[in-house]
Amino acid sequence: MPATYAHLRFGREVLEKLPDHIKQIIMSEPELFTIGLQGPDPFYLVISPFFGVRQRIRKNGFDNHAASGLHFMVPASRVAERSGFSAPEMSYIYGMICHFALDREAHAYIIEEAKKPEHVHAQIEMEFDRRLLVHDGKDPLSTRLTDGFIPSPRNTAVILQFYPDTNYPDLHAALVSTVIVNEIFLCPGKLKRNIVRLLITIFRLNENTWHHVMSEHPAPQCAETNRVIAGFYKSAIDKAVLLCTDFEKCAKGEKDWDELYMYNFKGIKTE
Ligand SMILES: [Zn+2]
Ligand SMILES: [Zn+2]
Repeated sequence: MPATYAHLRFGREVLEKLPDHIKQIIMSEPELFTIGLQGPDPFYLVISPFFGVRQRIRKNGFDNHAASGLHFMVPASRVAERSGFSAPEMSYIYGMICHFALDREAHAYIIEEAKKPEHVHAQIEMEFDRRLLVHDGKDPLSTRLTDGFIPSPRNTAVILQFYPDTNYPDLHAALVSTVIVNEIFLCPGKLKRNIVRLLITIFRLNENTWHHVMSEHPAPQCAETNRVIAGFYKSAIDKAVLLCTDFEKCAKGEKDWDELYMYNFKGIKTE
């Protein structure tokens, strides 16, 4: 669910409710938490002049969203254990848990709605971002959503441990691309908006791509999806708090993994 602002804001709300010791870990490594909040979405956004490279990295995004939460969390718990549950690794995991909790709750509905002729997947997610931005008193057209998302070599190296199927250059490309793509799609003015529209037509990218650009006006057909997703967003908060709080115990084998991890990032039960 590449609704960048929704995931960012969701993570901040979960953070407020977490126990102090977890809060401290996250506050000491905010960049890794911020990157974790976007989950495997950066793999979707990769740009590369080489088609083969782009396809390889994007496949990672699709595979990770289709796999269950357990598929990520069990190996991640080993990474955490090896690091002695140190702050950089844990902060990334806590971000990932937040992303998972929101995706799991809302994504099945979005995927189903997107099958209707009046809807486009990316538009449903973007319109929800718009609603939250307006609610928070921010300008949806000019607010940059990647502040704090820092794809430094050090952060990339920490995150690489969680994706043994990928390599440093690919992962770094995905993270850097996330910032660049968000920058390209940030269109506060008409001129840039028209240029981006033209480029999307020239490169024959689909309608879904266009809906990564924030709409000038709210789309009326998304009023209902916004209302429903807002409900999912709310109900996922306490679940994310619980999953974060229990993670270390589950990693140490003191507690069973939560049922929610049997679902994938699309909200489908796969285990
Ligand atoms: Zn989605
Ligand atoms: Zn996602």
